[in-house]
Amino acid sequence: MRIVLLGAPGSGKGTQAKKLSAEGNIPHVSTGDMLREAVAKGTRFGQKAKAIMDSGDLVSDDVMLGIISERLSQPDAADGFILDGFPRTRQQAIDLEELLDTLGVPLDAAVLMDVEFDILMKRLTGRRTCSKTGKLLNVYFSPNDEIDAVIAAGGELIQREDDNEETIRNRLDVYREQTEPVVEFYRKRNRLTVVDADGSVDDVHARLAAALP
Ligand code: AMP
Repeated sequence: MRIVLLGAPGSGKGTQAKKLSAEGNIPHVSTGDMLREAVAKGTRFGQKAKAIMDSGDLVSDDVMLGIISERLSQPDAADGFILDGFPRTRQQAIDLEELLDTLGVPLDAAVLMDVEFDILMKRLTGRRTCSKTGKLLNVYFSPNDEIDAVIAAGGELIQREDDNEETIRNRLDVYREQTEPVVEFYRKRNRLTVVDADGSVDDVHARLAAALP
């Protein structure tokens, strides 16, 4: 299965991609995670990327095409992948189409995870990651016992640097201006499936699984 998960920051793409990936044994390709790894390594590229990510802007299409071509050419992606966070601009969607043509593999679906603006804000401002296990939690939505269990096990609730309110507003603006055209790109090609992504992780997962080809 080769799918693209589309949706605003906070729509749950990462959470759902991880679940689909674990269930279907398909690689989860998150460009945000790949960039954060580069930042953590402290390379020169990582330092440049960090400044862009901290402001909520986008890394250039050329750089992203290089990263994604290399990743999708790896043997583990030969039979399928779940793309999370790419494409994010119309140019990236065109680049992906050409790349998949070159690799001789079709895209099965582009799925839009649809969530209202107010919910996105709460999901993003409340989002935390357990420092020990990487588990994603939300201070507004996660059950208290889950949060207590992380703290009892000695984990810290870490907030992503780009999850502060100012950066979040810019990321949502960037989404509207640059990524919504990607939704139209797939709609015009009759490739788009829209999933209501409001609700619990399990409910959204059930809807998503039912919508996939
Ligand atoms: P994410 O974890 O998907 O929300 O990505 C975090 C940040 O990484 C974004 O706000 C961008 O600065 C950068 N980024 C991730 N994917 C892309 C992409 N496909 N194109 C450009 N920038 C990206």
